[in-house]
Amino acid sequence: MADRNTMQKEIICQTLREMHCHPSAAMVYDQVHQSHPTISRSTVYRVLSRMAEEGKILRLDLAGGDSRYDGEVEPHSHVRCRVCGVMADLPAAPVGQPADDQGFLLEECAVMYRGLCPCCRRKAEAQC
Ligand SMILES: [Zn+2]
Ligand SMILES: [Zn+2]
Repeated sequence: MADRNTMQKEIICQTLREMHCHPSAAMVYDQVHQSHPTISRSTVYRVLSRMAEEGKILRLDLAGGDSRYDGEVEPHSHVRCRVCGVMADLPAAPVGQPADDQGFLLEECAVMYRGLCPCCRRKAEAQC
């Protein structure tokens, strides 16, 4: 029998992968809690943060200290609605490699677009 920690980790990881809304840790916990009420909030937070450190999931640190999680680790860009805050994936846009003359090792580039989601866009256009 797989040990309890591994099982909990798999449940949390699987739940995140099925959520495509780039949820916060609290949202992942709510979802996990519905099917697995014995998994504690602190376990969900701890597992998410460890998996992000291990590169198994992405953590998106938003302005204002809000963190969202993403089960999709292939490189991709994000768009965030500036009205309702909903986030979606975009195919990775080719980003030119910047000239680095300072000796940094460039490992990744996180692109975050801001805009209006289809719903907020319809509302905004309806007001004109
Ligand atoms: Zn919106
Ligand atoms: Zn994403």
